[in-house]
Amino acid sequence: MFFCNGGKVVDKRLQELGAQHFYETGLADDCVGLEIVVEPWIDGLWLALRREFTSWNIKEDMSSNLRAVSNGVSAMTVVPSMSGICSLDSEIQHLKLEDLEVKATDALSQKPANVHSVVSVQDTEASLDRSVPPLSQSALNIPALPSEYIDVQFQDSTGQELSVSSLISDGIVFHVPVTKAVQLTREDAVKTALLLELDISKTTFCYQPGDAFCVICPNNPKEVQELLHILGLSERKEYVVCLKIKQATKRKGAAPEHIPKGSTVEFILTWCLEIRAVPRKAFLRALVEYTSDAREKRRLQELCSKQGASDYSSFIRDPSICLLDLLHAFPTCRPPLNLLIEHLPKLQARSYSASSSNLFQPGKLQFVFNVVEFPSSPSRLVSRKGVCTGWLAELVAPMLQPHKKEEKLSAVKVSIFARPINTFHLPSDPSVPFMMVGPGTGVSPFIGFLQHRQKLQEEHTDWKFGETWLFFGCRHQDRDYLFRDELRSFVENGTLTHLKVCFSRDPPAAAEKKTTKYVQDNIRLFAKEVARVLLKERGCFYVCGDAKHMAKDVNDTLVDILSSDAGVDKLEAMKTLATLRQEKRYLQDVWA
Ligand code: FAD
Ligand code: NAP
Repeated sequence: MFFCNGGKVVDKRLQELGAQHFYETGLADDCVGLEIVVEPWIDGLWLALRREFTSWNIKEDMSSNLRAVSNGVSAMTVVPSMSGICSLDSEIQHLKLEDLEVKATDALSQKPANVHSVVSVQDTEASLDRSVPPLSQSALNIPALPSEYIDVQFQDSTGQELSVSSLISDGIVFHVPVTKAVQLTREDAVKTALLLELDISKTTFCYQPGDAFCVICPNNPKEVQELLHILGLSERKEYVVCLKIKQATKRKGAAPEHIPKGSTVEFILTWCLEIRAVPRKAFLRALVEYTSDAREKRRLQELCSKQGASDYSSFIRDPSICLLDLLHAFPTCRPPLNLLIEHLPKLQARSYSASSSNLFQPGKLQFVFNVVEFPSSPSRLVSRKGVCTGWLAELVAPMLQPHKKEEKLSAVKVSIFARPINTFHLPSDPSVPFMMVGPGTGVSPFIGFLQHRQKLQEEHTDWKFGETWLFFGCRHQDRDYLFRDELRSFVENGTLTHLKVCFSRDPPAAAEKKTTKYVQDNIRLFAKEVARVLLKERGCFYVCGDAKHMAKDVNDTLVDILSSDAGVDKLEAMKTLATLRQEKRYLQDVWA
C-alpha cells in the first residue's frame, strides 16, 4: 500500500497543481535492486528531456535542471507544467516487480546450508559471508539473472600504449607538472589537507577563480594487480581486449564508450572501471553463476534477495564493500572480465576547485584536498584511501619530504581537463559587497577570489571595491586552520574586510562562554550585517564545502535571518532566498 509512497504523493500533488508528465514515473524497489528500474529510467530520461527541451528556448534553466537530475536518480525535474519522477522504495513493502523476480528454486533454498546441529556463539551473528535464521532458512525471491551482453576476446598483440586522453571524448586533456605540494595540516589533525600547484603555463588551459576542474585518476595499482590475480588474468594483463555486443541480446549499439578501443586488460581495470563501486544487487545475482561453493552461492543469493534486503544494507551498502572485498569473502567466486565491464560503472575523473587566481599567479593552478580515509571494518579487513586523493597523496609524497623536493619536482605529472560552465564567480561589479562561507577545504575557491581581488585593488586604485566577509571554520586552531597566514595578510592589506573564524573542537578559553562552534553560529552573530549586505546592498552570498550538513545548516540559518529581519514567516523567507538564488546572488559550490 505504501510502496514508493513519498514519490507517489508528490507526483499526485504536482498533477493537482497543474503539472503534466513528460515521462513515465519509475517505481524502483530496493528489495530486488533499485537499478533494475532506475537505470533504464535514467537512460530514457535523457531522451525525454531532450525531446521536451528542444521545444523550449531556456538553455540556462535546462542546464541547471539537468544538473539536479544528474545529482541523483530520485531527483525530480519540475519545470512549469511538467514533472518526471523516479520514486525509490528501500523498505520491505509488497513487491511490484513480480515479472522481474524468480523463486530461488534450486535445492539450496529448500535446504539451507547454514543450519548446523552445533551452533557456536560466533555463528549466531550474521556477517558478509554468513547468515543466521530466519534468513538462512527462508525461501528467497531473487532478481532475474541479468543477461550477459558483452563478448570479450583477448588478442595477444602488443598494441600501442593508450594515453589517458583517450578516456575523454569531449574536451582537451592537459598533462601538467606538479610544481609544488604542501601539507596544510599538522600531523595530529583529524584530516590531512594537501595543496598542489600545477604548472599550466605551457598549455591553453585557462580558468577563473571559483572554477573547478577535473583530475583523471587511476585505481590503486595494488588493487588492480590483486584483481588480475584473483580473476586469473595476470598472464593476460597486457592483451588487447576486443569488445562486442553479443548478437542474441536486446542491447543495441556499440560496446561501452568509456573503454577506448585498443585497451589492454590492465588499462581497463586501472583507468576505465570504478572497481571500488559498491556492487549492486543485479551484480551479486550475476556473481552467483560464477561461484562454485554451495554455501557461498546461497549467501550471495540471500544478499540480492527480497528477504536479504537488510543484510545487503548492513554488510554491503553501508560499509561500502567493493568487488575485491566480495571476492575475498567468497573465494570460489571467479567472474569473467565481461561481467565486470557490464556491472562496474565508469571510473569518473574527480573535480577540484581552483584555490588560486591566474591574475595573481600567472601560469599556476592550485587546489586543496583532504586525503579521504576509510578505516578497516569487520567486512573489510584493510583500511583504504580515496581513489583520487589517495593516489595524489602517494604521487606527491616524495615532494613533501623537504630534502627531496628539488630532485622530484619535474617528474610528477597529472592529467586534467576543464569542467564546463560555472557560475561560482566573483561579482562582475567590484563595488558589490559579498560574503563567503567556506569551512575546511571549502575555503579553497575563496583564496582564489581574494588573490584575484588583491591584484585588482593593486592595479585599479581608482575603482570602488565593496566590503568582503569570510566565515571560516575548522576543528583546531593549531592543527587545521588552512591558509591562516594568507588570510591574516588579506585582512591586513584590506582585501578582506571581515574574517570570522571558529574552532569546533577546541575548548573555550578560560572564562569564555563558547558560542561559536560552526560557521553558521558566527553568521547568526552577524545576522544584521548579513541582512544588510544581501537585502539593502544587493550583495552576494557564496557557500562552498560539505553539502550534506554544513550547506544545509547555513541555508536554514539564512532563512531564519531573513525571516526575522523582514518579520515574515519562514516560507516567505525561503521565497526570498529562492529569488536570491535565481538572481545568482546566493551561490553554492557544495559536494557531499
Ligand atoms: P572516493 O574514493 O571517490 O571516495 C569518496 C566517497 O565515497 C567517500 O567520501 C565515501 O562517501 C564513499 N566511499 C567510497 N569508498 C568507500 C569505502 N570503502 N568506505 C566508505 N566510504 C566509501 N574535494 C576537495 O577535497 N577539494 C575540492 O576543492 C573539491 N572540489 C570539488 C568541486 C566539485 C564541483 C565537486 C563536484 C567535488 C569537489 N570535491 C572537492 C570532491 C572531490 O571531487 C572528490 O569527491 C573527493 O576528493 C574524494 O575523491 P576520492 O576519489 O579520493 O574518494
Ligand atoms: P569538513 O569535514 O566539512 O569540516 C570542517 C569544519 O566544519 C569542521 O570544524 C567541522 O566540525 C565543521 N562542521 C561539521 N558539521 C558541520 C555543520 N553541520 N555545519 C557547519 N560546520 C560543520 O571540512 P573538510 O574536512 O575540509 O571537508 C569539506 C568537504 O567539502 C569535503 O567533503 C570536500 O570534498 C568538500 N569540498 C567541496 C568543494 C566543492 O564542491 N566545490 C570544494 C572543497 C571541498 P566537526 O568535525 O568538529 O563537527
